[in-house]
Amino acid sequence: MDKTISIFSNINTKSILIKDVLVSKLLNKGYSVIYNPSEDALLNICIGGDGSFLRAVHDSKFSQVPFVGINTGHLGFYQEILISEIDTFIDDFINDNYSISKLALLQGIGKPKTNEYDLYALNEFVIKSKNSSIVHLDVYIDDYHLERFAGDGLIISTPSGSTAYNFSVGGSVLYHELKGYQLAPIAPINSRAYRSLMNSIVMPDTSILKIVPDVDDLKNLQLITDGNVTDTGIAEEFEFKIAKRYINKLVFNPRWYWINIKDKFL
Ligand code: NAP
Repeated sequence: MDKTISIFSNINTKSILIKDVLVSKLLNKGYSVIYNPSEDALLNICIGGDGSFLRAVHDSKFSQVPFVGINTGHLGFYQEILISEIDTFIDDFINDNYSISKLALLQGIGKPKTNEYDLYALNEFVIKSKNSSIVHLDVYIDDYHLERFAGDGLIISTPSGSTAYNFSVGGSVLYHELKGYQLAPIAPINSRAYRSLMNSIVMPDTSILKIVPDVDDLKNLQLITDGNVTDTGIAEEFEFKIAKRYINKLVFNPRWYWINIKDKFL
């Protein structure tokens, strides 16, 4: 059986040092190592912070090969393995001492056809203005018109992305395996002139969210996918839903998610 492992690392000095240590340990155990995504690999190891994990997931085009992260960054929500745990991690991996968690992805579709694109996000999509102007967005859940939002923008996040940008705007933390997704407002306006929901909404994974920007706002809007501005441009109508595809993440400590919440936020 092919024993190839793909390694993704950011270019920080600390990550590069850890990568060299990890590679020599893996070679000693009989693995071969590559530095690009391959569907034939046994494992994708990401070295860095959550940003490195997100980049590896996107660079691999949402590979079905399981991911695991070694944390050399600040927060490391996706990065379960600490530098001091590398030997234990390798032993646990060899002995199949782990479980696999399926992390949901969001799919975004821009319409109409002239501007159509099909995107996936692990953390979130954000629709917000490019400048400081207010944006007006009609929000439909399963074709029911819920609100005409006015404010800075909207965040549509997965459960595992709920601890990122969503959390900063007061959205709820969702358990990473919960079957649903969240819509959170950024600086919603609630006045005589505007009525916007002030809190986030959690929807079931079967719901389809449609967002229709005001035509006058189109030139000022941007779509951001997992922290990156999407250069395919803004659409006249967006549809967001939980994707049929997902990514696999190795889990070594079943309490990993709650440990993260306590360690990093409390
Ligand atoms: P970045 O601007 O370099 O870092 C953003 C921060 O978000 C880092 O501290 C990162 O942790 C953390 N983060 C990323 N995913 C997370 C998750 N699922 N749970 C908890 N924290 C998470 O950008 P980046 O590293 O490329 O990450 C892109 C993400 O930044 C976006 O998806 C968005 O969620 C987030 N963001 C947040 C804000 C905000 O909170 N106001 C604004 C813009 C973007 P590490 O230190 O471990 O990398």
